[in-house]
Amino acid sequence: MAPISKETDFLVIGGGSGGLGAARAASARYGTRTMVIEGKRLGGTCVNVGCVPKKVTFNAAAIAETLHQAQAYGFSVQETAPFDWTTFKNKRDAYITRLNGIYERNLTNDKVEYVRGWAKLLSRNSVEVTLDDGTKTVVNAKKILIAVGGNPKVPPQIPGAELGINSDGFFDIDTLPKKVALIGAGYIAVEFAGMFNALGVETHLLIRHDTVLRHFDPMIQEGVTGEYERLGVKLHKRSTTTKVEKDEQTGKLTVHYTQGETEGLVSDLDHLIWAVGRTPATAGLGLEEAGVKVDKKGHIVADDYQNTNVESVYALGDVTGRVELTPVAIAAGRKLAARLYGGEQFSTAKLDYADIPSVVFAHPEVGSIGLTEPEAIERYGRDNVTIYKTNFTAMYYAMMDPAEKGPTAYKLICAGPEEKVVGLHIMGLGSGEMLQGFGVAVKMGATKADFDSCVAIHPTSAEELVTLR
Ligand SMILES: Cc1cc2nc3c(=O)[nH]c(=O)nc-3n(C[C@H](O)[C@H](O)[C@H](O)COP(=O)(O)OP(=O)(O)OC[C@H]3O[C@@H](n4cnc5c(N)ncnc54)[C@H](O)[C@@H]3O)c2cc1C
Repeated sequence: MAPISKETDFLVIGGGSGGLGAARAASARYGTRTMVIEGKRLGGTCVNVGCVPKKVTFNAAAIAETLHQAQAYGFSVQETAPFDWTTFKNKRDAYITRLNGIYERNLTNDKVEYVRGWAKLLSRNSVEVTLDDGTKTVVNAKKILIAVGGNPKVPPQIPGAELGINSDGFFDIDTLPKKVALIGAGYIAVEFAGMFNALGVETHLLIRHDTVLRHFDPMIQEGVTGEYERLGVKLHKRSTTTKVEKDEQTGKLTVHYTQGETEGLVSDLDHLIWAVGRTPATAGLGLEEAGVKVDKKGHIVADDYQNTNVESVYALGDVTGRVELTPVAIAAGRKLAARLYGGEQFSTAKLDYADIPSVVFAHPEVGSIGLTEPEAIERYGRDNVTIYKTNFTAMYYAMMDPAEKGPTAYKLICAGPEEKVVGLHIMGLGSGEMLQGFGVAVKMGATKADFDSCVAIHPTSAEELVTLR
């Protein structure tokens, strides 16, 4: 490894989505001397333990569903062996390793200096880097970007909590489990539960309330919860986990919980997965030394331009706790690089955090942009909000028995007399791919009349969104 520069212009802590987005733009587009410091693997959460391996696993689960459904279309598909999780996992790991290499080559091509090590702020212009071999170096920088992301939240302090794994550990599972339990109702728990269930694993989901995805529109919360129950996910509602035990003979786990006055348990588990949220990765980062402010939850406080309270120190992505998604971190990173180094024309560049589309790779997929119905009513008043919605069975299921048919539900939330679309929520086959285009329309300020003026594409599910009455 070449010796590390002692000086740079733009020092980026964290080689994940946001850090790489900012560093590559600063160097390749604007010719800035840039360094990225990454303690683990390049690509960050998304590439290594997030979006990418998750979506590949979702694809496997979707194929399992298709194989099952193919029989309804007249195919004689016989599954003579269970899903080969081990082979699949090894191939998925190899794919991620290839991506790590591509990310490193991209940095070389873009002339970004890449340092593998852990960074700690010493002041607003200097960082101590601890390399893999333990040596420490100080690098001085004109500007510093903190893009260190987050980690899975530590589970509650209950006996045996440490016997469970978290979302990082999900990607280390190397044989097909028979029975698992997940704790959490957010999108990560819901996605993992849907995948396990589709791959034939007995899946238990412990949630604290009555529905999953509680930050989503009520139609989505109720729709996904109901569909998971129908698909055979064993939901333990209103439950609080109290204890986890391990049978030393079999290695199997038992999770105990309370539901109000009653107690319950799920035993014989191969894995228990905590998916109870994420927390900013700021421990040992030297924020206090540099005087960088954090909020009550420990997220770095950054304004709309990604400025922290300390001059020449910036922060973006999950560590700021604002819309924790990969494309958001990348977009914020590119905007910041443009503003800092792109000259006068970009001097006010910033990411617009309004109307960001997001998808949950649940079963079925969910897409959402803008306000939920309760949020719209709160913002505009009940009398100024018009709701258009529909439930139907997608034509894909036409060949299947009633018990095999999945639901589709769409909702448009419109505000004011002009019926501007301020929220769009979809659940059903293909929602993930469908949302991006509708997202452009919503972002442009489309009204219900604009939606209706677009001629339907038939026969699709999406056509229902331009023919809502
Ligand atoms: C299971 C799961 C599934 C997800 N699925 C999706 C999805 O489908 N779509 C989507 O858009 N988003 C998804 N996300 C969220 C997405 O991964 C994050 O929003 C995104 O990675 C945030 O980017 P970031 O740059 O802020 O942080 P990260 O990508 O987490 O990168 C931060 C990097 O900083 C490094 N680092 C931390 N501290 C230091 C230090 N002191 N010194 C040096 N390096 C350091 C870390 O090792 C890490 O590589 C998912 C997340 C999870 C956990």
